[in-house]
Amino acid sequence: MADCIFCKIANKEIPSTVVYEDEQVIAFKDLEPQAPVHVLVIPKTHVQSVAELGAEQKELMGHLFCEVLPKLAKDLGVDEKGFRVVANTGADGGQTVGHLHFHLLGGRSMQWPPG
Ligand code: 5GP
Ligand code: ZN
Repeated sequence: MADCIFCKIANKEIPSTVVYEDEQVIAFKDLEPQAPVHVLVIPKTHVQSVAELGAEQKELMGHLFCEVLPKLAKDLGVDEKGFRVVANTGADGGQTVGHLHFHLLGGRSMQWPPG
């Protein structure tokens, strides 16, 4: 999608520090890390948010959640101590980039509830 910064990152039109990539998914370090480990995991195809997900993305989301996220958590060394996966969605959810992304945060103890 034109003018989407995460589509541009997926297409390598904007540089990023990529930590994982396959045909469907790319993960890269957040520009403003909120934890020692903070990566963003996104589908390469443009989907706005969790609210727009549907049956069409079943295979993609199964891959992202059941294969990519656990592998990334392990590779980044946070699988044993724990980590957080966050999908800010829409205005009240605090979403600032309109391309579906999952924050993977770890390397420190997290607080609850989030702000
Ligand atoms: P949101 O607020 O939508 O949940 O998360 C957007 C995230 O994208 C923020 O944590 C922000 O730091 C990150 N971000 C915004 N622009 C860029 C960018 O150009 N490159 C990278 N690597 N991260 C970005
Ligand atoms: Zn996009």
